[in-house]
Amino acid sequence: MKIYLLNLILLFGFTSGLGAQDNSTPAYPEENLTLSEVTAHIKFLASDELKGRGTGTPENDVAARYIAEQFRANGLKSPEGATDYFQSVALERRSPAFEAQLTLFSDTLKNEIDMVLLSGDAATVEAPVVYLGYGWQDSESGHDDYAGKDVTGKIVLAKLGMPGRRFGPSAFSASSTKREFAAKNGAVALIELYKGQFPWRGLVGFLSRDRLSIVEASDDSSGGQGIAHFLVNDPDSMYAAKADSVESSSAFLTTSGRPVESVSSRNVVGLIQGSDPEYRDEYVLLMAHYDHLGVRPSRNQADADSIFNGARDNGMGTVALISAAKALGAHPPKRSVLFLAVTGEEVGLLGSRYYVDNPIIPLNQIIFGLNTDTGGVDDSSVVTVVGLERTTAGEAIMAGCARYGLEAIPDPVPDQNLFNRSDNVAFVRKGVPAPTFSPGFREWGPGITNYYHRPQDEADENFNYGYLLNFSKAYAHAARLIADMEVRPLWREGDEYEAAAKELYGME
Ligand SMILES: [Zn+2]
Repeated sequence: MKIYLLNLILLFGFTSGLGAQDNSTPAYPEENLTLSEVTAHIKFLASDELKGRGTGTPENDVAARYIAEQFRANGLKSPEGATDYFQSVALERRSPAFEAQLTLFSDTLKNEIDMVLLSGDAATVEAPVVYLGYGWQDSESGHDDYAGKDVTGKIVLAKLGMPGRRFGPSAFSASSTKREFAAKNGAVALIELYKGQFPWRGLVGFLSRDRLSIVEASDDSSGGQGIAHFLVNDPDSMYAAKADSVESSSAFLTTSGRPVESVSSRNVVGLIQGSDPEYRDEYVLLMAHYDHLGVRPSRNQADADSIFNGARDNGMGTVALISAAKALGAHPPKRSVLFLAVTGEEVGLLGSRYYVDNPIIPLNQIIFGLNTDTGGVDDSSVVTVVGLERTTAGEAIMAGCARYGLEAIPDPVPDQNLFNRSDNVAFVRKGVPAPTFSPGFREWGPGITNYYHRPQDEADENFNYGYLLNFSKAYAHAARLIADMEVRPLWREGDEYEAAAKELYGME
């Protein structure tokens, strides 16, 4: 009853602005989106012919082309700074080492068994080892493990992580910076010691396979990547203890290096200019990643299929994005809208990070972002908005969903840390309020686990096309309501990203 009343109020409140209308005239173009068009989009994007849209594959390019041509067909502009709707994202692929061996404290360690070569060119080195704790330098806090140590021509040995961050993903994120420190200080190799929560075998499997990364455009273009960088399993801190007690020791290493090759992929960018001259310099970002996992052997031996079609992840979000482009293009809201289909999400959120580092529309003009991404649908009566309660756009998002009979609910599994696990995170770290609009789930149930990152995630008879249509309408309408808000949406007071927003937008 309460929901019914709310619907009625919202319907009245939000359609009255468009003037006289009758029941046969849809109030907004999103009403006209059809089951056949969203079905056609998802059938194409999740087809076997597109081979799972793996980043850097020709089929990933075909998907990008499809999205760009949908943008064109719906009257979106290609912004200055993009080339006919494309922003190229320069990537590099690091393949596994053919050969790598390391002798440390007289132990001969085998590659991908006792240790793993993370990066580096071919090398054969015998050099003294210098143990540096974390091997970390931070001018702000004054922490400097290199102080008073000469590591020129030597091998730096260090614990994985950094002060205060010994475990978890952030320990790994410090790794490439530590390699730079080692290279800048003249070291010939960096060995990190692993004592962590993730099982070593699984970690090695992950770290030793093909890996894509953004080509860093820093002055030191190598970013220290030329030096050999090893991760050694040290569950009992045996090597850390030896390093502390042994007066001097040298290590021997020989490696074929990890071959690096250039890979290109593209973000797809389109613009709709806002209808109100007073608001149109402000942009609402709509974003979905269009890449998926490509073709690979399934973890489950029983799966004969090796194509990870990615119908739900993130074919659904991509279709919602294309649908919003059509609906908002046909009747633009007050503010301008930036459409961004990003690549490289599944291999490390690369496309969104690239955009944030190379923005086409400056970040301080992007007042809000509505990302859409998913693992599946577990409850087709709701839309799960990760971050719903964190911004003042929450009501607009709820109203956009309610119009199509969907209830917008907040993240039911905050312990999964979903807010920081999709492309929105690149933007929120800079301060842009940017939740993720996801197909419905109240728990991480079978509607997700049966499909998430599995070959079964296909646009077949198990796929809910009707929900895709409703979801796409709701996404477009929520975006419209946000882009039409009188007062721009902000983070709720006290949010962890509020300070970043104040800095980005120059607000007091
Ligand atoms: Zn995804």
